[in-house]
Amino acid sequence: MLHDRDRIFTNLNGRHGADLQSSLKRGAWDGTKFLLEQGKDWIITEMKASGLRGRGGAGFPTGLKWSFMPKPQEGRPHYLVVNADESEPGTCKDREIMRNDPHLLIEGCMIASFAMHANACYVYLRGEYVREKEALQRAVDEAYAANLVGKNNVHGYPFDIYVHHGAGAYICGEETALLESLEGKKGMPRLKPPFPANMGLYGCPTTVNNVESIAVAGTILRRGGGWFAGLGKPNNTGTKLFSISGHVNRPCNVEEEMGITFRELVEKHCGGVRGGWDNLMAVIPGGSSVPLLPEHQCQDLSMDFDTLRNLKSGLGTAAVIVMDKSTDVIRAIARLSYFYKHESCGQCTPCREGTGWMWRVVSRMAEGRAEKREIDMLLEVTTQVEGHTICALGDAAAWPVQGLIRHYRHVIEQRIDDYTARSTPADHLVAA
Ligand code: SF4
Repeated sequence: MLHDRDRIFTNLNGRHGADLQSSLKRGAWDGTKFLLEQGKDWIITEMKASGLRGRGGAGFPTGLKWSFMPKPQEGRPHYLVVNADESEPGTCKDREIMRNDPHLLIEGCMIASFAMHANACYVYLRGEYVREKEALQRAVDEAYAANLVGKNNVHGYPFDIYVHHGAGAYICGEETALLESLEGKKGMPRLKPPFPANMGLYGCPTTVNNVESIAVAGTILRRGGGWFAGLGKPNNTGTKLFSISGHVNRPCNVEEEMGITFRELVEKHCGGVRGGWDNLMAVIPGGSSVPLLPEHQCQDLSMDFDTLRNLKSGLGTAAVIVMDKSTDVIRAIARLSYFYKHESCGQCTPCREGTGWMWRVVSRMAEGRAEKREIDMLLEVTTQVEGHTICALGDAAAWPVQGLIRHYRHVIEQRIDDYTARSTPADHLVAA
C-alpha cells in the first residue's frame, strides 16, 4: 500500500490550488536548477535507475527512450512532444495532472528537454480537453511570467513550451499521427522506421512521451531513481495513476503502487464492486485496447505490466473498467469494436476492412444471429488484423474481440442457441 509520503501527485483531486504559488508549496520547481546542473548524463542515468516505464500504454523504459536521441547537429533542432491526447476509452488520469498539478508537468518538460538537447516542447492535447487546455495554458503563462521558462529563464537553459489543441481524433494519440497533426497535416500514422528519435517533428529528432511519464520526472530526480525503484515490483517499479470506472461504488482516479492487487485497489479507493464482490463478472484492466479478464482471474490480480501480459491482457494506460453481472459482455465488446471501426484512419486494408468486419459480426453475435462456426472465423480475422497494420490501432481492435472469445465463447454459443430456439426458419435465412 502506498504511503502518503511517497505520493507524487498530491493534488490529484484538486483539493488545493493548481496555481504556481500552491504548486511551489507542494514541491514543484524545487531545486530544478540544481538538477539541471548535474548534467544530461546524470539525469538519464537516474531515470534509467528508477525503472520508470512509459505511462502511455506501451510500458517502454523512459530513461532508455531518452538515451536514443542522437547527438545534436547544426540545423537539426531536437524536440520533446508530450502526448496529452488521452483518448483511450476509460482513461482520464492525464486530465487530472493538467487540471490540478500542471506545474509538475511543465517542470518535467523542461528537465526532459534539457536531457535530450531540446529547447522546445509541444504538449498535444485531445480536442475534447477544453478546460484542461485552459488550465495548462494558464500554468504555462505563470511559468513564463515567473521566468521559470523562456529564453533567459532562471534555470539558465533556454526553453520554450507550447500547448497545442488537437481536433478530437483517437488516432492522433498514436505518436506519428500526432506528429503529422502537429505539423498541420491530416493525423495519419507514419510507417516506421524511421523512428521519431531520428526523424520526428519537422523531420528532426523527437521524443514523444506521455503526460504522466514526464510529470513524474522532477520528483524522481529530487528523490533519486533508487527511491522510485524501491516502490512497486522488479521491472514494474514506482507509483502509477489508475483510472477506475464502471460498476464500482465510487469511480475515481488514484495514485497507487505498481503491483497493488485489483481487489485492494477497488476496495480501498472505490468502496468495492457494485452489489458486492460476488457480483463481479469481468475487468478490462488497462483501457479498452487490452483483452478483458474474467472474474476468477481478477481478485488477487497484481496490477503491473508483466503479470497482465502473462495473462494475455495488459496494464496499458491502467484504466480499469469493471463489469458486474448485469453487463451484456458481447454487446460491450461490440460497442468497443464500433469505436475502433469509427476511429480507424483507413490507411491500411486489414484495419479499414477488418475493424468493420469484426464490429458487424460481434454485433450479430450479441443478438444471437450467427452460426457457431463463425466464432472461429472471427478469431481468424482478428489474427489477420493483429500485427499486419501500420499502427497499433489494428491490434487494439483485435485484442478485445480475442479476449471475448477466449473467456466468453460459452456465452456467445448460448446466445446463438437461445436465438435458434426461439426463431423461425425465416430468421435463419437472415442470420445466414
Ligand atoms: Fe490507420 Fe488503422 Fe492502419 Fe493505424 S492500423 S494506420 S489506424 S488504418
